[in-house]
Amino acid sequence: MTEAAPSNSNFIRHIVVDDRATGKHAGRVVTRFPPEPNGYLHLGHAKSICLNFGIAADFGGVCHLRLDDTNPAREDPEYVDAIKADVHWLGFDWDALRHASDYFSVFYLCAEKLIRDGDAFVCDLSADEIREYRGTLTEPGRNSPYRDRSVDENIDLFRRMRAGEFADGAKTLRAKIDMASGNINLRDPTLYRIRKVTHQNTGDAWPIYPMYDYAHAISDAVEGITHSLCTLEFEDHRPLYDWCLQRVDLPNHPELVRPVIDAGLFMPVSTPQQIEFARGNLDYTVMSKRKLMELVTEGLVEGWDDPRMPTLSGVRRRGFPPAAIRTFWDRAGVTKQNSTIEFSVLEGCVRDALDASAARRFAVIDPLKLTLTNLPEGHTETLTFPNHPKNEAFGTRAVPFSRALWIEREDFMEVPPKGFHRLIPGGEVRLRGVGIVKCTEVLKDTNGNVTEVRCTLDTDTRHGAPGAERKVKGTIHWVSARDALAAEIRLYDRLFNVPDPDDDSDGKTYHDHLNPDSRRVVSGYVEASLANAKAGDSCQFERLGYFVADARDHAPGKPVFNRTVTLRDSWTKATAK
Ligand code: ATP
Ligand code: MG
Repeated sequence: MTEAAPSNSNFIRHIVVDDRATGKHAGRVVTRFPPEPNGYLHLGHAKSICLNFGIAADFGGVCHLRLDDTNPAREDPEYVDAIKADVHWLGFDWDALRHASDYFSVFYLCAEKLIRDGDAFVCDLSADEIREYRGTLTEPGRNSPYRDRSVDENIDLFRRMRAGEFADGAKTLRAKIDMASGNINLRDPTLYRIRKVTHQNTGDAWPIYPMYDYAHAISDAVEGITHSLCTLEFEDHRPLYDWCLQRVDLPNHPELVRPVIDAGLFMPVSTPQQIEFARGNLDYTVMSKRKLMELVTEGLVEGWDDPRMPTLSGVRRRGFPPAAIRTFWDRAGVTKQNSTIEFSVLEGCVRDALDASAARRFAVIDPLKLTLTNLPEGHTETLTFPNHPKNEAFGTRAVPFSRALWIEREDFMEVPPKGFHRLIPGGEVRLRGVGIVKCTEVLKDTNGNVTEVRCTLDTDTRHGAPGAERKVKGTIHWVSARDALAAEIRLYDRLFNVPDPDDDSDGKTYHDHLNPDSRRVVSGYVEASLANAKAGDSCQFERLGYFVADARDHAPGKPVFNRTVTLRDSWTKATAK
């Protein structure tokens, strides 16, 4: 354990260092990642995951995964499973897995304490009336006519709320703070509401559910969280968070945590400290669960794990390595200033990670036949290629070579523009790892489309031959037509074609900015060695980009590859013009 600020330091790590130096949090550091299981995690959540788990690890502490399931109607076990899988995939493991619903009895006891202490009351105002009484940013609110109910009456009514005697919306439990506060969150905020909805964990046991701010503060204290990290929009909620902690006063009221002790879930309680940081945002992306949910339910993508989605399950299927995402958020840093980071920066991290980890392979995504007329029919040989240009540990592989090849259609041009250094009629190009070929004939169909190019191979330029060093300007890749495997290749690109698809100031919505070319499916050929590729395996198709065998659809005998990222950033160039 180190007490110096770690290398990837930020203001939160400095706070933790100070807190440990002053003894404010003398025990171990405990953080938590608290997603609401109402959707899949996205790249923004990854920032919070990396921060919470990272800080715990840096200081020899622990991080909890807490499913914030206080809102029964919107939650689904499918999301819970996906959240757990995504956190693991990112490379983190939780010390304790908890649900806010594990603490429902504690929340209830704490609420009765607040009532007994005169800090909470049962209110009969409707939601609309509460809003009306609340006032505005410039005008104070008014006290509820129910604010002065006696403790006994409040206890009786709250117990009857809990017993299910009242209809949804008929009553609420509210904190008694200050209807004139400049901070609207302190104007007698609601702590509990009636909702007769079946809950995924607690079934029909509870007809009342706690509100987020109240439940969150107490959950943190019950779990012994020391540093409760959240995004900036909760800055205004911090006074309420602190009010709840102070009035409930768990450290001095062990009787309130009896239910978690009895359930075997006890950890020493704490007085946690809320610290806010800026949300992570990426350009060319929408990143709210609501919008991502709409993309799924409106069928604009193929599901939460569509490889164009910024969800963790989407980028996983796209082939982004988890290490690239961790590096990205590490480099982005943690501050209190909201900003939007370029998607190309994340893609750069993906390229760096894959450059080091992905084996090289040959594939042709838009095939054109090339025949080497000076090789005999049936000619076949096996060439050896390194799997990685910079890392011998990757070893080598055998690549079959024969008289008939597939090359990339765009590597041949009949009427080339100036500066085109690949194959042209009568011109020469090097076939990667083979030698120099010269185009002697171009075959076309009746519509004038090129169907085949015929070439002669200069055998003097083959590996080890006297002319092997002879230079030509271009080198192209190829696969052997009789050996290559036909493959479905999905060319993914950004889902939106403007940097800020959320911007609706011009009356357009993100729906209007969907990139129509974000998914293109082509039939190509991949080298024979990829017959062994397993779903999820990444490789570089030389000259084309990084690709991954699709997690859902790839199967032996039916290869399907997703393009993870091109080899170079074409967007920054295109948009800089
Ligand atoms: P969304 O608005 O996408 O639904 P949320 O904040 O409602 O996100 P939660 O499941 O409540 O989603 O979030 C779990 C944790 O992840 C919270 O602590 C939240 O602050 C954090 N988080 C969510 N989005 C981001 C983001 N873009 N950057 C950093 N942290 C985020
Ligand atoms: Mg939320």
